Amino acid sequence: MRILIVEDDSALQRGLEQAIVGMGYLAQVVGDGEHADTLLAAEQFDLVVLDLGLPRLDGLEVLRRLRARRRQLPVLILSARDRTEDRITGLNSGADDYLPKPFDLAEFEARVRALLRRGHGAVTCFGRLEWHWESRQALVDGTALSLSPKDLILLESLLQQAGKVVNKESLAWRMGDADLAAGENMVEVYIHRMRRKLAPAGLAILTVRGVGYLLREEADGG
Ligand code: CA
Repeated sequence: MRILIVEDDSALQRGLEQAIVGMGYLAQVVGDGEHADTLLAAEQFDLVVLDLGLPRLDGLEVLRRLRARRRQLPVLILSARDRTEDRITGLNSGADDYLPKPFDLAEFEARVRALLRRGHGAVTCFGRLEWHWESRQALVDGTALSLSPKDLILLESLLQQAGKVVNKESLAWRMGDADLAAGENMVEVYIHRMRRKLAPAGLAILTVRGVGYLLREEADGG
C-alpha cells in the first residue's frame, strides 16, 4: 500500500508519515500542490491524504485535476477549512472523505483504513484464511488467530501483495527496525512463527532467496 501525503506543515507531515508507517503502509510526503499533481499524474498510489491550503497549487485544484484524469483513487481531505460549505465543496470535487483539522491521529487512522478497505473489499479470503481489512482480524475456520502488532504488519503486507514477492528489507522497515541487519533477522523470526500460524489455513510462505517472501496456497497433497 502506497500513500501520498500532501501537506505543507512540517510538524503535521511528520505526524502523518509516522502514523501511516506505523499502520504498515509506505508513505510519500510532498509539501506543495504542483509537486503532488505531477506525482499523481505519473505514479501509482492507493490513497491520497490531501491538505487544501497548499503553496503553488490549491488542494481543491489538485483534486479537480486528479478527477479530470478519471482516476478512481481514494482521497481523504484534511483541512482547517471546517466550514460546512468547504466540506461540501471538497466532497463535490471528488473527495471520498473529509477530516477537519485539528484531528485525533486515531480518527485519521480509522478513516485511512476505511478508505483503503473500499479499494480492497471488506474481506480477503486466501486458502482457509479470512482477513478483515478494517478490524485487521485473521480468522481460520472461524477462529481468530492470535497476532502481535508486528505479526499484523507482516500478514497485512503479505496479503496486500499476495501473489507477488514482498521485499525483506521493506518488511524490516515496516516492522519498525531501523538497523537493517537486526531488522532482517527479526523478520526471519516472525516469518518462521507466521508459517506455523498459517499452516492450518493451508497457506505457505516461500522464501525467495536474496529478495523476500511470497505467500501462496499450499499445493494439494503437500
Ligand atoms: Ca496547509
